[in-house]
Amino acid sequence: MIVVKIGGAQGVALNAVCRDIAALVKAGTPVIVVHGGSAETNDISEQLGHPPRFVTNAQGFTSRYTDRTTLEIFAMVTNGKINTLLVETLQKGGVNAFGISGLDGRLMLAKRKDAIRIVENGRPRILRDDFTGKIEVVNGALLKTLVQMGYTPVVSPLAISPEGEALNVDADRAAAYVAGAVQAEQLIILTNVPGLLRHFPDESSLIPHVPKAGLEQALAFAEGRMKKKVLGATEALDLGVAKVVFADGRIEQPLFGALAGKGTVIS
Ligand code: ADP
Repeated sequence: MIVVKIGGAQGVALNAVCRDIAALVKAGTPVIVVHGGSAETNDISEQLGHPPRFVTNAQGFTSRYTDRTTLEIFAMVTNGKINTLLVETLQKGGVNAFGISGLDGRLMLAKRKDAIRIVENGRPRILRDDFTGKIEVVNGALLKTLVQMGYTPVVSPLAISPEGEALNVDADRAAAYVAGAVQAEQLIILTNVPGLLRHFPDESSLIPHVPKAGLEQALAFAEGRMKKKVLGATEALDLGVAKVVFADGRIEQPLFGALAGKGTVIS
């Protein structure tokens, strides 16, 4: 079993990724897809007159502030447009793709972050109306059942709280939990860079291999959202996934490239 995370950043060659998935599935290797959508959510939020708002906590980490309206736009974009179009592209390629969010059948259970401490204009504030969650459990049996029935699950990054609320979750970390729950052999994270770069954005500084013990050091090279991928890789390895690859989704045969070790291999 292979779990493939398809990034929301612009540039990922969706048709090429879906062609590789079709070839793998036809050759008998089951694939589960997890996708993001934050870049497109930002664009559509702007268009709808509800621009994205990012907040900074006391430790200096920045995250999206997800009020109810933002959550609804996030659901519309990721589980609506992006998920549907991915399923369409896979279906055109002969893959029986099955779109599902983490809410459906309680696939991904998450804990809602009930109070977020932020710093605004130099002053501390507490936000209580944020719909962001941290995944705790993924129902691997449900995904495996779909795969056994011949479907290729395509998972969007929404989760459910124990109270039944929809939550926005980080897609890289969702992919890590999915990979752990189905005991995938590999988690491939496709994005718009060749892998983890020692000196971002210098692409010639690609780090080809990071041993598990070197992940903490690797975190120091990652800026911004790359940090979440390194965190996701750590979680996947901790959950028993043998190998995580950060790879370029913009090239021809991106998935086969990643499976051949092109990118940053973490094991
Ligand atoms: P996706 O939408 O594919 O999940 P993100 O935008 O969340 O992608 O994360 C990938 C981005 O991380 C890259 O486009 C790059 O701008 C940024 N980045 C920050 N630090 C690094 C680094 N050290 N190596 C590679 N990319 C990095």
